[in-house]
Amino acid sequence: MRAKLELQENHCKGCELCVQACPRDVLAMGSNINALGYRPASIVDPEKCTGCKACALVCPEVCFTIWQVA
Ligand code: SF4
Ligand code: SF4
Repeated sequence: MRAKLELQENHCKGCELCVQACPRDVLAMGSNINALGYRPASIVDPEKCTGCKACALVCPEVCFTIWQVA
């Protein structure tokens, strides 16, 4: 089972909780500034995502959408 991950960077408040929660180092903080004025998380290694949803569960801004792909 693979997963497809989408991150709405423009809703991100830059709290870094998702980066700390991901057990596969799929996420990292970006160097850009988003529309809200925060440095957002970004997806750096999507092939390693297992779809465990840990990032989505900790994100206070509901930035993540995850699909399981057969
Ligand atoms: S679903 Fe799991 S493996 Fe994928 S980015 Fe989120 S925390 Fe990491
Ligand atoms: S947990 Fe959500 S708000 Fe916090 S850095 Fe990650 S995507 Fe942004």
